[in-house]
Amino acid sequence: MKVLLIGDGQLGHMLGRSAIQQGHYCLLYSTRTQQVMPLASTESLALSLAEAVAWADVVSWEHEDVPADIIELARSKFLMDPEKITALTDRRSEKQLFDDCQVPTSPWQAFENETELAKVLEQSPQALVLKAARGGYDGKGQWRWQPQQNAEPLLKSAGQQAGIAEHLIPFEYEVSLVGARDKQGNIRCYPLITNVHDRGILSYSIAGEGWVSEHLQAQAESYFESITKALDYVGVLAIEFFVVAEGNEQHLLVNEIAPRVHNSGHWSMSGSNCDQFGLHMRCLTGLPLPDLLCAPTLMVNVIGVETIPGELWQAAAADCHWYNKQARPGRKLGHVNFIIDTPERGRKLAEFWAPRLQQLAD
Ligand code: ATP
Ligand code: MG
Ligand code: MG
Repeated sequence: MKVLLIGDGQLGHMLGRSAIQQGHYCLLYSTRTQQVMPLASTESLALSLAEAVAWADVVSWEHEDVPADIIELARSKFLMDPEKITALTDRRSEKQLFDDCQVPTSPWQAFENETELAKVLEQSPQALVLKAARGGYDGKGQWRWQPQQNAEPLLKSAGQQAGIAEHLIPFEYEVSLVGARDKQGNIRCYPLITNVHDRGILSYSIAGEGWVSEHLQAQAESYFESITKALDYVGVLAIEFFVVAEGNEQHLLVNEIAPRVHNSGHWSMSGSNCDQFGLHMRCLTGLPLPDLLCAPTLMVNVIGVETIPGELWQAAAADCHWYNKQARPGRKLGHVNFIIDTPERGRKLAEFWAPRLQQLAD
């Protein structure tokens, strides 16, 4: 089949490689340069977007923020209602979806402007996280608020655009579920992934079958089913959760979703019989979804540093991925996967490597 992917970042390239591996043709469309790119080339093709759409059997994206004119042009080639997906780029409609699906999430309120935010802060007896409605990633566009704190600076920052105010959750840890739904509604999910963030950005992820309790896995999968059904979703989707304690019990609160392949699923490139990119391609092209096998894996993000040390390129146990992007503090430039035997070993390795592989912005 012929696959056109909107976006030519690392996710687009990793998806594209899976398309080719599965015997398909694939082109990428760069929303930045507005050019159609073949895979693994710096030379664009003399092909307009309209021509690339006409060429393609199916169109998908590396990120849900697909511009409206592209949606219009490619409408007939998406496997689902694209507006349901682009609506998720606004945190207000994303949170509303969780409420509509009765999936528990941190209690929230929307605000339109400074005046509305002032009212929200005045009336809140508890700590809040304020998030810009649009455009936030890697913890950008977020502010914390404690009761009695001076609201003025927040009104001049967070209040300058629409957003949401949600309760600050004292979570135990964070997990994500990456899974896929095909055209027939069949679902396959990887084991829950434990994620550790540093200053709002994903530092490392650990995945292992049964390493997070069965009860949380079942809860996560039932939320995955409700959300993907409501979206009539086809492809890979990730849900980020907070694990919260209530007495001796733990349960999940949904933080946010990513209707696409996700950074916390990169471990699957080394640790699964079918990685998240291959799984997404299978959904797009109608190949059956396999049962997913998983070898316990650690993924450490490479952030802001110039190179991955040679020592890791040489290590048999490390699988290095470099995205060929310009280094800048806080920018994701690659990742390294390690097959591990226990969560403790994973944590130790991560704590050793994360500071060496990550230079975060201040
Ligand atoms: P991503 O890069 O994952 O898309 P993002 O910028 O969209 O990130 P969130 O996932 O909403 O932001 O938040 C980033 C991190 O900030 C979370 O993983 C979590 O560690 C923390 N955080 C966000 N919301 C809350 C909350 N309500 N309570 C406590 N911590 C939170
Ligand atoms: Mg996000
Ligand atoms: Mg997030």
